[in-house]
Amino acid sequence: YSDEVKRAQASSVASPGPTIFDKIISKEIKADIIYEDDFCLAFNDVSPQAPVHFLVIPKKSIPRLQDCEASDKEILGHLMLVARSLGSERAPGGWRLVVNNGRHGAQSVYHLHLHVLGGRQMGWPPG
Ligand code: ADP
Repeated sequence: YSDEVKRAQASSVASPGPTIFDKIISKEIKADIIYEDDFCLAFNDVSPQAPVHFLVIPKKSIPRLQDCEASDKEILGHLMLVARSLGSERAPGGWRLVVNNGRHGAQSVYHLHLHVLGGRQMGWPPG
């Protein structure tokens, strides 16, 4: 398995305390922030898997997509609209939106995030 998958297998939704993304939101940890508003934050991934690779995260602490509730409909829509604007701006040739959910989804940070990847031809299927 790749490092990402090994990292994902070692982490879990049960880990206590703030995640690294909570610390990026509170500015306790620095990130290359490309967009921010009252409800979300977008920043470049530290380990980019494509020429364009950034994450869009809600400020609300939602661990996984599967933990969302019907009342999160607006925030979820907002995240996609922000991903759409930034993705189209930064990767006009097209881009991919990815949400890794839980262990088999290879999620390693338990704060919901949308990966936006572009700037090169993507393959299918993902591993
Ligand atoms: P995976 O690690 O398998 O890709 P995730 O979907 O949970 O699992 O993705 C977490 C992403 O967060 C990874 O792409 C990782 O490179 C990125 N990341 C981790 N820490 C930081 C950080 N401090 N700043 C920016 N990106 C980060």
